[in-house]
Amino acid sequence: MTVKGRLVVYVGPMFAGKSAHLIAAAKRETDVLALKPDFDTRDGSELVSRDGSHLAAVSANVWPADADRYDHIVLDEGQFWVSPHYNGDIVQDILQARLRGAHVTVGGLDTDYRRVPFDVMTRLMDEADEVIVLKAHCHVCGAPAAWTAKTHETGHLLETGDQELYEARCDAHWTLPDRP
Ligand SMILES: [Zn+2]
Repeated sequence: MTVKGRLVVYVGPMFAGKSAHLIAAAKRETDVLALKPDFDTRDGSELVSRDGSHLAAVSANVWPADADRYDHIVLDEGQFWVSPHYNGDIVQDILQARLRGAHVTVGGLDTDYRRVPFDVMTRLMDEADEVIVLKAHCHVCGAPAAWTAKTHETGHLLETGDQELYEARCDAHWTLPDRP
C-alpha cells in the first residue's frame, strides 16, 4: 500500500525567502526533482535564492513524465503554473503525485501586487498538509511585510522581476503602482 505523501506550501510576498526554504528542504532529501516554470527564464536551469543558495532544476510547462520516479518534488513560483504557461492543472497533477506517495513542496506568492489572491496558490493552500507563511521586510520601514508592490505599472499580471520591479511592503506602506 502506498502511503499518501505530504504537500507543504510556502507562501509570502517577494523577498520573503521562499526559494531559500525550498532549496533547503530539497537539500535535506536525496531523491528529489526540482521544477521551475519555463516561463521564468531567470537563472537558467537552477532555483536560485537571494541568499545565494541554488539547486539544479528542470524547467517545465507540463508535468514531467518521469516525475513518478521521485520521492520528493519541489516546485517554485507556484503562481506561474497556470495557462497559457502550463499545460494542465498543476493542482491535480500535484495531488496525483501525492496520492502516489510523493512528498511535494511548493513555494509561491499568495497574492499579486494588487493584493488579489492567486487562485492556483489558494487551491494549493486549501489542499496542503502544512502551509508556512513567510514575511519579508518592508522596503520603506523594515517592518514585517506580507505584500508585494510593483514599483511601476507594466500592464502584466504574471511577470518575473526583481528589485527593479517589485518591493515588499507592510500594511501601512503597500500601494498600487502609479499608472504610466
Ligand atoms: Zn512599511
